[in-house]
Amino acid sequence: MNWSYSGYRQFKKCNRQWYYSNIVAHQAAKEPFRKEVTILSKLKTIDAWRGDIVDQVISQTIINKIRKDEGLDEDNLLWRADRVFEEQYDFALKKKYREENLVLSEYEYYSALIDLDNDRGIDQETLDRARMDIHQSLKNFLDKTDLIDYLRSASQWLTQRDIQYPFSRFRAKGRPDLIVFFEDEPPHIFDWKVHTFATKTYQDQLLSYAFALNKANEIKPHKDFPSNLSAFTVLDYRLTEFQLLIDEVRDYTISEEDINETENEIASGLMAMYRVGANKKYDECSSEDFPTAHNPSSCEKCQFKSICKQ
Ligand code: SF4
Repeated sequence: MNWSYSGYRQFKKCNRQWYYSNIVAHQAAKEPFRKEVTILSKLKTIDAWRGDIVDQVISQTIINKIRKDEGLDEDNLLWRADRVFEEQYDFALKKKYREENLVLSEYEYYSALIDLDNDRGIDQETLDRARMDIHQSLKNFLDKTDLIDYLRSASQWLTQRDIQYPFSRFRAKGRPDLIVFFEDEPPHIFDWKVHTFATKTYQDQLLSYAFALNKANEIKPHKDFPSNLSAFTVLDYRLTEFQLLIDEVRDYTISEEDINETENEIASGLMAMYRVGANKKYDECSSEDFPTAHNPSSCEKCQFKSICKQ
């Protein structure tokens, strides 16, 4: 049983949804019900998909160019985003993820969208808006020349790197969008968000990443952590949430109290998960062990609606 920020958020929203995603879904499953749940677990809303495309272009292309000290051409990057958009949309529209014996590794880009899978469809206006939001988010990033210069001054860049560490008798993990390391300065952790209103802040998510980086470095440093990481305490780490669509950069500092609260949140999360049997294997538990969502609005956009026994 693993704790992660996003996994525990899903668990708090709906224990049953977490169960389908984490216990029932399995890539090697042969049983028809389990295979269907595995497919459903990949489905996304169009808003989540739009955020994924922005993450992919930043993580796979922009940071790579920054790492190589290459220029960032806006037209070229937007063209690349369009290519990802079109290839993924085509994949989702044709429901290729439902093909028998599909080897996902053969596809550079793939996606699965809830409204295409359930045949409700996505209208052109919604698609155009998603594409415009992707462009606007990337333009807002590229306009932050000070931030880009700062990122260029780093000595190492880790994008979407899993950071795992033991937590009591369980495990916890984090996957920050970007961590930059410097020769003589503390690490800086970034999270990119593409939210239309961005009323929620994500300091707690970034704190969980800082906690993960510090713990993993104390217990068993990952091979790509720099040797100077131990020269800094977790309180020195820098955290930034960049709400790309509304063009707002949110920087956070870290206090001792923040770290204690983060640790308590992970501990109480793991206990809550353990109590309902989240540590069990598929054949040791059933959907009835995992309560359904408190808030019925959680079900509206849920990818498991078609199979959920409420
Ligand atoms: S349909 Fe509702 S109750 Fe069922 S898994 Fe989804 S969110 Fe939970």
